[in-house]
Amino acid sequence: MAVYDDNNLFAKILRGEIPCKKVYEDQYALAFHDINPQAPTHILVIPKGKYLSYDDYSQKASAEEIAGLMRAVGTVAREIGLDAPGYRILSNIGTDGGQEVPHLHFHLFGGRRLGPMLKRDN
Ligand code: 5GP
Repeated sequence: MAVYDDNNLFAKILRGEIPCKKVYEDQYALAFHDINPQAPTHILVIPKGKYLSYDDYSQKASAEEIAGLMRAVGTVAREIGLDAPGYRILSNIGTDGGQEVPHLHFHLFGGRRLGPMLKRDN
């Protein structure tokens, strides 16, 4: 498996070396607006720990870290008012998943009817 890159974009955001529009932070997670939103609301929620992807995280993170991050995702959604109309959580993993930044992140999309889960090719 690939090794975590301390210089990936989200590691730099966590260290404050690159600015972000923060919406939430606790001991487990940081949430901020995606720079290139694909819905009226598009937030990224990332763990504070060094995990490449959901695959990496699900093998190595502690139960406390997993609970903390999952709770943070829900808290962020409620705090910005996505819970009532509804929203979508998505995490891209690896090459086929289309993951660009090698630090686990959950996308939160909302603010409109989001339509089908995946683009239909047929
Ligand atoms: P992925 O394709 O890895 O699932 O998602 C990476 C996300 O990071 C993309 O939605 C992209 O728009 C977002 N992104 C890329 N560069 C930056 C940046 O400098 N700041 C923020 N806030 N988001 C970024």
